[in-house]
Amino acid sequence: MLNVDLHCHSNVSDGTLTPAAVAARAKANGVDIWALTDHDEIGGIAAARAAAAELGLPYVAGVEISITWAAQTIHIVGLQIDETNAELVQGLAATRGGRERRAHEMAEQLAAVGIPGAFEGALKHVGNPDLISRTHFARYLVEIGRCADTSEVFRNFLTEGNPGYVPHRWASLEQSVRWIRGAGGVAVVAHPGRYKLSDLAFDAFFNEFKQLGGSAIEVVTGSHTPDQYGYYAKVAADYGFLASRGSDFHSPSESRVDLGTLPPLPASLTPVWHNW
Ligand code: AMP
Ligand code: MN
Ligand code: MN
Ligand code: MN
Repeated sequence: MLNVDLHCHSNVSDGTLTPAAVAARAKANGVDIWALTDHDEIGGIAAARAAAAELGLPYVAGVEISITWAAQTIHIVGLQIDETNAELVQGLAATRGGRERRAHEMAEQLAAVGIPGAFEGALKHVGNPDLISRTHFARYLVEIGRCADTSEVFRNFLTEGNPGYVPHRWASLEQSVRWIRGAGGVAVVAHPGRYKLSDLAFDAFFNEFKQLGGSAIEVVTGSHTPDQYGYYAKVAADYGFLASRGSDFHSPSESRVDLGTLPPLPASLTPVWHNW
């Protein structure tokens, strides 16, 4: 049984380790096939690929694209992409574009509830100035002692109905799948168990994703409970999706699930890596 981890982050997005350090950690944890999937960014791929080659770690180029669908933020992972594909490169650059303005608005909201200087504070945690994210604000709120850890931050700030939440329009589902497939990749719905959609909306979403050429969903991920492994295994079987596995590792001190430590995919499913 291969230990495959196809979802994690470096400091090129909102992880804390460099791409090379994430590669080393994957190797040390016994990962057999590894993909780095930074949010809306391919800037870490060259370093990740070089580090993996040095370690003899089979490597797949990846990305995690933020999209807006039915007013919800959803993440679509692209695997086996050609990161030099012009439309993918331009599309991701465009989708990153609104982040700085959004971050200033988040900081204004936090200032209004007595937390000044959050933009500058978050920026100190950012590895890539092009990719300031809510995670960096969360680390700042922990740093100043406003919350004990980042999960407490996301329960009280930065999320819908809480201070620091700024609605944002990301790429469309159609664009994300087109960019990924145009770059020769496979489109995968990231951690479906995290989205607040009704059964009816989920059915519409999965059908649209499939019709656009999406082919897989994450079943075993650090964002799912064991019950959800079973539930999304059934979803994969029902819709004819390939199945993926990934820790969604961000940081040694924050992530509940480390690289390469999740249970295997249920044996009845076809893994997204079956023909690699
Ligand atoms: P952004 O792309 O700026 O909206 O930031 C999204 C990132 O925030 C996600 O990729 C996670 O890393 C982090 N995040 C969002 N919600 C939570 C949560 N409830 N608990 C921990 N991290 C979260
Ligand atoms: Mn993240
Ligand atoms: Mn995600
Ligand atoms: Mn992720």
